[in-house]
Amino acid sequence: MHEFSIVQALIESCENHAQSQQASAISRVKIRIGALSGVEPSLLATAFDTFKLEGMCREAVLEMEIEPLMLSCNECGFEGEANGLSVLCPHCHSPFTRVTGGEEMLLLQLELEGNT
Ligand SMILES: [Zn+2]
Repeated sequence: MHEFSIVQALIESCENHAQSQQASAISRVKIRIGALSGVEPSLLATAFDTFKLEGMCREAVLEMEIEPLMLSCNECGFEGEANGLSVLCPHCHSPFTRVTGGEEMLLLQLELEGNT
């Protein structure tokens, strides 16, 4: 499953970061999921709970923030949030738009414990 490999990579990068900070555990992981990233938040949460049982993330709370699809329109100059997942301009309905946000999954913030 797509989400499982994402979570494995996420946990790995969290642990690398925590180790470089000499932390003993990770208490909170905050990520931003783009609406177009193809990631299903509920599956991601389940996968996180499954994988975190081993390692430094085992006490960690996963916080997710959904980033809406953002567009920039070449016809009318509209810039902003799209209408759901449609890439048509919500203002003039032109298909000549550019996606300016909402495609990625980003690790936003880590809260660590046991810094020395
Ligand atoms: Zn437009």
